[in-house]
Amino acid sequence: MTTSTNGKFDRRPLIAGNWKMNLDHVQGITFLQKLAWTLDDAGHDHSRVEVSVFPPFTDLRGVQTLVKGDDLSVVFGGQDLSPKDSGAYTGDISGQFLSRLGCTYVLVGHSERRTIHQETDEVLNEKVHAAYRHSLVPVLCVGEGLEVRQAGAHVEHTLEQVRRGVAGLDRAQAADLVIAYEPVWAIGTGEVAGPDDAQEMCAAIRAELGTLFDTETGAKVRLLYGGSVKAASAASILRERDVDGVLVGGASLDVSEFASIVRFEQHLGTD
Ligand code: PEP
Repeated sequence: MTTSTNGKFDRRPLIAGNWKMNLDHVQGITFLQKLAWTLDDAGHDHSRVEVSVFPPFTDLRGVQTLVKGDDLSVVFGGQDLSPKDSGAYTGDISGQFLSRLGCTYVLVGHSERRTIHQETDEVLNEKVHAAYRHSLVPVLCVGEGLEVRQAGAHVEHTLEQVRRGVAGLDRAQAADLVIAYEPVWAIGTGEVAGPDDAQEMCAAIRAELGTLFDTETGAKVRLLYGGSVKAASAASILRERDVDGVLVGGASLDVSEFASIVRFEQHLGTD
């Protein structure tokens, strides 16, 4: 199969690495240098497949300096942002700060934020709007837990998260959006949703966006799958029509594994 068969790569694939609370500011720089060298050695074409990392906040200044100084094609983003722009919000990070550090993206509503920090869809919607106020592209994370999946309510559950997350956006904002479908039961567990599961949900999300905005807008939004993605599973998921990239946690901390995921096009005909 070639990458152009269904035309989906009009949407530039995005391979995103969520470092979570791993790699301090020194380790992060070393890691990113190695990743950039590995991708360069492999002749990776960044114009075909975009690569973004999501380091801890304390790494971002170093990452920015490295990316700028060495003219790397990798982009980066924050793992979260405050719904507010400034003020008495101890411990929070403004989208304005992320923007000034050169971030392109910001994760919003990762399941670990929803669960550990009890972030609601309403707060996440405020964060999505805060991201746009500061010219950041939100990567809105949605997905169901195991009980919801077992009850067969996963599509409706996830679409409700999408509806609430994107409320109040205009069409131009919606078209720029990235949505990551991450079934909670597959995150960090080694359980990967099958390519059919990823496609089913991504197609449903795209159709919902078409209804909420218009078909053209729905067709522009990039949809990622996330949940225990490894080099061995990436290509089969990424060949699905409505899956435009992957959000990778654990495997993004291993340079050769992550670089191999970035180079998924090499494996499209072989796995
Ligand atoms: C994630 O953190 O978004 C994620 C998908 O993690 P993992 O790949 O480790 O399941």
